[in-house]
Amino acid sequence: MSNLKTQIEAVTAQIEVAAKQAKRSANDITLLAVSKTKPESSIIDAFNAGQRCFGENYIQEAEQKILSLKANTILSNDIQWHFIGPIQSNKTKKIAELFDWVQSVDRLKIAKRLNEQRPEALAPLNICLQVNISEEIQKAGVSIDEVFELASQISTMSSLKLRGLMAIPANTDDETLLQKQFNKLKQVFEELKSQHPSVDTLSMGMSQDMQLAINNGSTMVRIGTAIFGKRN
Ligand SMILES: *Cc1c(COP(=O)(O)O)cnc(C)c1O
Repeated sequence: MSNLKTQIEAVTAQIEVAAKQAKRSANDITLLAVSKTKPESSIIDAFNAGQRCFGENYIQEAEQKILSLKANTILSNDIQWHFIGPIQSNKTKKIAELFDWVQSVDRLKIAKRLNEQRPEALAPLNICLQVNISEEIQKAGVSIDEVFELASQISTMSSLKLRGLMAIPANTDDETLLQKQFNKLKQVFEELKSQHPSVDTLSMGMSQDMQLAINNGSTMVRIGTAIFGKRN
């Protein structure tokens, strides 16, 4: 058994335990494997272990891997690609062409460009707004006050499909603070869901805080290190 398969099974088991503790179904939580900086061969190993959703942060790196894997008929077109990194406006065209989801939309200009540049032959691009829940000034993401207006604007764009929210919490071991931020995001998510029926995704939780995130209602955890090991 490949090491990666063991890691994916271990993470899946952790998700199941956390879901059970939270009295939720593990089926309601999607595992996104964050493959940034990792080689194509690792993605193929993870695919062979049953993993289908992958997250990438850097467009140049992602483009190479995605085009090469799309040309690989064994993988057919079964992989779902999520862009989760910071977005510069000159990169939106490639993102709109290559990805199925974009989780890091944080301003109207980016949403408009993705909407215009999404090829017509493809299904609408699934969108999560990245929210700055820690309210650190240097952090990416829209503030909670701005979420609803931006979401309403995106919901009118025909080549985009509003799916939900994504956040990276404060970089801290303080569980009380994390808990507070996750819980706040969950409240915003519930309100957004009541306004937009297409909203079903709360993307929060990474290798370090997956359990706490699931306990607070996460529907998608983004896991890099716990699957692929440390990044250089
Ligand atoms: C790198 C990254 C992750 C994965 O983090 P790990 O701690 O390695 O699990 C998740 N989300 C985003 C947005 C990232 O950039």
